[in-house]
Amino acid sequence: MKCPFCHHEDTQVLDTRVSEEDDSIRRRRRCIHCEKRFTTFERIELTMPAVVKKNGSRTEFDPTKLRGSFMLALRKRPVPMEAVDASIQRIKEKLLSSGEREVQSGHIGALVMLELKRLDKIAYVRFASVYKSFEDVAEFQEAIAEVEVSNSTSKKRIKKK
Ligand SMILES: [Zn+2]
Repeated sequence: MKCPFCHHEDTQVLDTRVSEEDDSIRRRRRCIHCEKRFTTFERIELTMPAVVKKNGSRTEFDPTKLRGSFMLALRKRPVPMEAVDASIQRIKEKLLSSGEREVQSGHIGALVMLELKRLDKIAYVRFASVYKSFEDVAEFQEAIAEVEVSNSTSKKRIKKK
């Protein structure tokens, strides 16, 4: 923290207090150079990181779009809205707690895939096949095999070769 008086780089924290009304942190500081005292207020920033698209352009994080991706993948699938909401909430929390100012759109896609994998295998494959081409063929076959297992009424396990 720069000193506002002499612009020295280093200041000493004398006292730290957390305000309960607005979650701000108040710090009494002293410049180690000119010894002047001042107070800083820090607010916890809870804004979603900006989304960096593949072409490098930035766009605001859009929760409606995120929900849209889920709904499209889950179309006609027997997944309760509560579970979808919980998944979306988990993704938002992950993005918030990363503390990053920017996030690659591909990373959000990966988070969606992770959640869909838990929710519904068919939705997972739907999303994955449009969103990203599978890294390798084995990964894709594994996903398809998982869908077939969960679909088969006999519940027979597909043996791995
Ligand atoms: Zn100073």
